[in-house]
Amino acid sequence: MSGTVTNWAGNIVYTAAEVHRPDSVEALRAVVGKSAAVRALGSGHSFNEIADPGAGGVLLRLDALPAEVDVDTAARTVRVGGGVRYAELARLVHAHGLALPNMASLPHISVAGSVATGTHGSGVTNGPLATAVREVELVTADGSTVRIGKGDARFGGAVTSLGALGVVTALTLDLEPTYLVEQHLFTELPLEGLDFETVAGAAYSVSLFTDWRDPGFRQVWLKRRTDQVLPEFPWAVPAKVALHPVPGMPAENCTEQFGVPGPWHERLPHFRAEFTPSSGAELQSEYLLPRECALDALHAVHRIRETVAPVLQTCEVRTVAADEQWLSPSHGRDTVALHFTWVEDTAAVLPVVRRLEEALESFDPRPHWGKVFAVPAAALRARYPRLDDFRALVDELDPAGKFTNAFVRDLLG
Ligand SMILES: Cc1cc2nc3c(=O)[nH]c(=O)nc-3n(C[C@H](O)[C@H](O)[C@H](O)COP(=O)(O)OP(=O)(O)OC[C@H]3O[C@@H](n4cnc5c(N)ncnc54)[C@H](O)[C@@H]3O)c2cc1C
Repeated sequence: MSGTVTNWAGNIVYTAAEVHRPDSVEALRAVVGKSAAVRALGSGHSFNEIADPGAGGVLLRLDALPAEVDVDTAARTVRVGGGVRYAELARLVHAHGLALPNMASLPHISVAGSVATGTHGSGVTNGPLATAVREVELVTADGSTVRIGKGDARFGGAVTSLGALGVVTALTLDLEPTYLVEQHLFTELPLEGLDFETVAGAAYSVSLFTDWRDPGFRQVWLKRRTDQVLPEFPWAVPAKVALHPVPGMPAENCTEQFGVPGPWHERLPHFRAEFTPSSGAELQSEYLLPRECALDALHAVHRIRETVAPVLQTCEVRTVAADEQWLSPSHGRDTVALHFTWVEDTAAVLPVVRRLEEALESFDPRPHWGKVFAVPAAALRARYPRLDDFRALVDELDPAGKFTNAFVRDLLG
C-alpha cells in the first residue's frame, strides 16, 4: 500500500517506508518475518509517535484482519482479534448476556491498541482496560506465535507492552454478566472544600470536567450500575439539559443521560460509536498520579490556570485502581488521572504541557503512553519499578529489536 497515513488527530504523519494491510494472520506473519522494523497500528487514536516504525520501517494496519469475536458463554471469556474495536466487541458480548468491567470515553478504539498503552475509564475499583485480559497471542519477530497468559511469569509485561513485543493477533478477555448503567449529570461542583475521595467513589465510574476558567468543575458525570445503590450527591446541581464535556459541542454525540438505564456499553463511554468522539479537532495529554495526591494536584493546576485555560478545551479528572502490568501508568498505585483536551495547535500547546509537567512533577506523574507529553525518558524510567523486567522480556522475544521504534528505544535507554 502507498499513501500518507496519519493518526486520528492528524498531528502525526507516520514515516514508514511501507504500509501493509494484511487480511489474514498468515499474511501478517509473512510481512513480519521478512521485515527489519515493524509496528502495528490499531485505530490510530494515539497522539504521539508511539506507533511509528520510523523511516525504513513497516507500518502494519490491522483493520483488514478478520474481525474475530468469539464469545465462550460457559467460561465467560471472549477471544478478540488484533484489529477489533471496542464498539463491535461490546455489542456482541452484550448480545451474549455478558459484559466488560469498564470502557474508555469512546468505543472507537481498537482493543489491542488500547490495552497496549494502558487506556482506562474511571472508577475507584476499576483498573485500566488491560485488567480484563487473561491471554495475549503475539506474532513475534521470526513470524512465530507466542501465547502469554495469566500465571506466566512474563504476563506482567505482555499486555501493556507499547507494541514492543510483537503484533498482537488475539486477546482473551474475562467477562461478567451483563449489567445496566444510568448516567446522572451535575454542574457547578466547587473545588474549594472538595472531598475528592467521597466524590470519586460516589458511583461505579465518576468523571469531573473543568475548563480551569473557574475554580471548580462545570460538569460531574456519575455512571451508576443499576445493581448498585443510587448515590446521594448534594455537592453539585443536577444538570437540566443534556451535556457534552467539550463546550460548544452537541450533546447528541454523547451517550444517553438523565438516569435512563441502558446497557453498560452504551453508558460507560461518554461518546456514541456513530459520532465523532470528543471535539474531533484536538490534542490530548494525561497524567496519572497517586490518588492520595488528587486534591494537591488539582490545586497545583488551579495555580497555573491562567496558563492552561487559553489552550484548553476541557480537563477531565478520573480515577483508576492499581494494576499489575509493569508499564501501566496505574501500576502498583491507586490513581487519579488528570486529562487535558487541548486545542489543535502543537506549537501553542507544547509550552503549556511543559509548564503543567513542572507543576505536577512532585506528584511523580506517569504520562499516558498514547498522548502528548514532554517528560524526558530518564525521568520516566525512574517511575516504572519493573522496567528492567520489561527490558528483559523485549530481549527474550525480540532480540534484534524489530518492534523497538524510537519511542520505545528512548524509554528503554
Ligand atoms: C477522542 C479520544 C478519546 C480518548 N479517550 C481515552 C480514554 O477515555 N481513556 C484513555 O486512557 N485513553 C483515551 N484515549 C487514548 C487512546 O485510548 C489510546 O491512544 C489508545 O492506545 C488508542 O488505541 P488505538 O487502537 O487507536 O491505538 P494506536 O494509536 O493505533 O496504537 C497505540 C499503540 O499500540 C500499538 N498497537 C496497536 N495495535 C497493536 C497490535 N495489534 N499489536 C501490537 N501493538 C499494537 C501501536 O504500535 C502503538 O504502540 C483517547 C483518544 C482519543 C483520540
